[in-house]
Amino acid sequence: MFANAMEVFKLLDQSNCRKCNETTCLAFASKVFLGQKTLDLCPAVDPEILKRYGGQVNKNNSSDAEMEKALAELKEELGRCDLEEAARRTGGKFQNNRLTLKIFGRLFSLENGGRIITDIHTTPWLVLPVISYVLDCKGVPLTGKWTSFREIENAREKYGLFAQRAEKPLQKIADTHTALFEDLTLIFNGREVENVYESDIALVLEPLPMVPMLICYWKPEEGMESDLRIFYDSSASANAGADIAFGLGTGFVRMLERLTLTHGWQEASAHG
Ligand code: SF4
Repeated sequence: MFANAMEVFKLLDQSNCRKCNETTCLAFASKVFLGQKTLDLCPAVDPEILKRYGGQVNKNNSSDAEMEKALAELKEELGRCDLEEAARRTGGKFQNNRLTLKIFGRLFSLENGGRIITDIHTTPWLVLPVISYVLDCKGVPLTGKWTSFREIENAREKYGLFAQRAEKPLQKIADTHTALFEDLTLIFNGREVENVYESDIALVLEPLPMVPMLICYWKPEEGMESDLRIFYDSSASANAGADIAFGLGTGFVRMLERLTLTHGWQEASAHG
């Protein structure tokens, strides 16, 4: 499974020969990443690489379909939710039959019919945890104390997958796109904090009003690899729960991967 389109692009000979019916290798790489094409449609890929990835469809695609299905079910449930009462629990505002929340500091409004009004790029990876939050948040005041994902109620058995899909890819982004990582507070309206767990970079982001997220990054040092951990406010068991916290962490990383893909396009275009 590819983490982003640039990983696919690096496997191609980058000649833009168009034999795959795409105008560029980047366009082809993007479609393989999105699960719309398989790598073996490029005749120029090394046979050894094809043995490994050949006709595999990138699994992102099937998980996207599952997310869409789950989203349709949640929107139905949202139709039965009292949004005025939900606004009190979720740190949102209710006006004109709409519940408005701040997602990463930007306005995101929901109506009972599932209609979403926002200028944020909405993907199921973002919308799913937001609607679940509206339905399930208990409105417990923030404690200001941080807890790791695995300390959230019922999250322990999901931690391996969380590390694989959120912390590790984010660590890789921090290692390879350090400037972008340092700019996350600007891009997502967060703030940098100091002296947290002796980390080199510590960022607080607010994906949901009652569920702030702390990201700590330790840069690589002589003989030691870098490290990255994601923490939540210790009220997260009541205000989010394991599934929402999982969805927020992994969804955020997917958004970033798309962003690094855009950067990758720029870098590759600049060189090609
Ligand atoms: S066939 Fe392969 S090398 Fe040619 S444009 Fe498509 S991806 Fe690039």
